[in-house]
Amino acid sequence: MNPIKKWHHQTIAKQMVEKLKSKHFNGIYAENLDEARKIVLNMIPEGASIGLGGSVTFNEMNLLETFREPKYKLFDRYKPQPWEDVVECYRQALLADYLVTSTNAITRNGELVNVDCSGNRVAGMIMGPKNVIIIAGVNKVVDDLDEAFKRLKKIAPLNAKRIGHKTPCAETGVCMDCQTKERMCNYTTIIHHGMKYEGRTTIILVAEEIGF
Ligand code: SF4
Repeated sequence: MNPIKKWHHQTIAKQMVEKLKSKHFNGIYAENLDEARKIVLNMIPEGASIGLGGSVTFNEMNLLETFREPKYKLFDRYKPQPWEDVVECYRQALLADYLVTSTNAITRNGELVNVDCSGNRVAGMIMGPKNVIIIAGVNKVVDDLDEAFKRLKKIAPLNAKRIGHKTPCAETGVCMDCQTKERMCNYTTIIHHGMKYEGRTTIILVAEEIGF
């Protein structure tokens, strides 16, 4: 990577870690995705139950196969199964020891902004799992809430395309405010602060561009 760009990523990521700490999140800096992966695996003890929130960042960390090892109890939403069982998996994962996921946007003021299709990810980020681990590339950092909402609309078509949802935006590349069953944008949340359950939410800021 261009050294100036890398310096900028490092600088912004370090600033955001301090901001997140000031909002009573457990902010951790990671130089790259490999380092983030090690941090995650060091945090989760053997025997822990784990739920997953769908994200490109998580996919890029190659954690799924690791979490499928018998030493963990994974609520495996990704194994082939009927939709009713996927929903049951979502429900069970809300009481997991750890939720591992990413976020769609982090404002410079330390707010986490997310949009979700099924609601399991955003629900678990707010309440349910004992611990939440969020891994995010520095490309998720935006100036403010307005920018965050714009970002959600920009990335939803990419996620629709990635997952294979037959939404209009998966054809046009831009939001068409669809009314389809496969709509991606059903739940939008803002997490303003980490004080309520101090120590519950860890955010690993990676000094790289990861995911959408
Ligand atoms: S509302 Fe529908 S068209 Fe708009 S981004 Fe979401 S899924 Fe795509």
